[in-house]
Amino acid sequence: MYLTHLECPRCGREHDAHRLTNLCDCGSPLLARYDLAAVAAAVTPERFGLRPADLWRYRELLPVADERHVTTLGEGWTPLWRAPAYGHEIGVADLIVKDEGLTPTGSFKARGAAVGVSRARELDVRRFAMPTNGNAGAAWATYAARAGMAATIVMPLDAPTICRRECVAAGADLLLVDGLISDAGRRVAELVAEADGAVFDAGTLREPYRLEGKKTMGYEIVEQLGWQVPDVIIYPTGGGVGLIGIHKALHELRELGWVSDRLPRLVAVQSTGCAPIVRAFAAGEERARPWADAHTVAFGITVPAPLGDELILTALRESGGTAVAVDDAEILTDLREFAAREGLLLCPEGAACLTAARHLRAGGWIRPDERVVVLNTGSGLKYPETVDVSAVPVG
Ligand SMILES: *Cc1c(COP(=O)(O)O)cnc(C)c1O
Ligand SMILES: [Zn+2]
Repeated sequence: MYLTHLECPRCGREHDAHRLTNLCDCGSPLLARYDLAAVAAAVTPERFGLRPADLWRYRELLPVADERHVTTLGEGWTPLWRAPAYGHEIGVADLIVKDEGLTPTGSFKARGAAVGVSRARELDVRRFAMPTNGNAGAAWATYAARAGMAATIVMPLDAPTICRRECVAAGADLLLVDGLISDAGRRVAELVAEADGAVFDAGTLREPYRLEGKKTMGYEIVEQLGWQVPDVIIYPTGGGVGLIGIHKALHELRELGWVSDRLPRLVAVQSTGCAPIVRAFAAGEERARPWADAHTVAFGITVPAPLGDELILTALRESGGTAVAVDDAEILTDLREFAAREGLLLCPEGAACLTAARHLRAGGWIRPDERVVVLNTGSGLKYPETVDVSAVPVG
């Protein structure tokens, strides 16, 4: 294994990676660091092409030492689909969708869960608890079952009911709260405190390794484009783990010498009903203030106070990117438009990225010849109510 330590991006303090750790003493999430010079000496990019089509192909850049701890359902290596018809309509000829809807548990959360649970198993975790907007809980419950680990999942009542069912099916202890993910987070903090060390807090970015699973989306985009980077990557941002992860992956690839110096501009997409990052980005702030009365059809991005706000804002600014808020009505229109033109039913979070692409192209921020990759973070099948069938005739 090439993992060397955990590093605090805020105060620079180094932490032992072989011990279970949550946040730095300064309150910041921690980032896993590797001996990248040794990785570069051990593998070449061409080698990955000979390996199985899942995220474990990047094992030198993942935090699991013993292969027996790898907990997998074949996650990763999702396809890149060109979307010429829809792209032509919005003026982005080279539009590409990375379809995470084909991941086990129907969302890219399975990447974070596979790596997070595998590492937790390696560090001897027996039970964990986490707050979730639905998909993360479903994924972690699923991988916990596979690893023989116990899970307590706390989810808002409004989360998609399929995620509830997935948790119950996987044998997790499920708690529902009448509130938002931030309320679920408070409940988890109480549970963890009461358990006095017997329950690990696996909440978003409190646990450093789910980021490592999600970063593989960044490696895959680059490898699937023939070790070339696109001009723009558009990502639906809730907790921001995927965005921070893709940013981290791109920097690691650059340090490894496997991509050129010019990196893609990263775009964070939020809903006008919950846009703390967009507001902070526009105001030039380093931290995001909590968003009041959060609500959107794109449930996976309803995160009023993301713990990784600083890291998200840094990734956007460092990459020359931006942050865009889009409204629910437009999200649903683009979802249907895309399905009719390209034959893929997106999740609303993925559709929000297409709405953002349309606006950014219309405003000139995206140029007509640029290559744009959009993340469809989950399967549209998990959100059947986004398509209204009440007017379909009987007979
Ligand atoms: C969780 C989730 C998101 C947001 O992901 P983050 O990495 O936490 O920002 C986007 N889309 C879907 C479908 C999700 O489940
Ligand atoms: Zn710190």
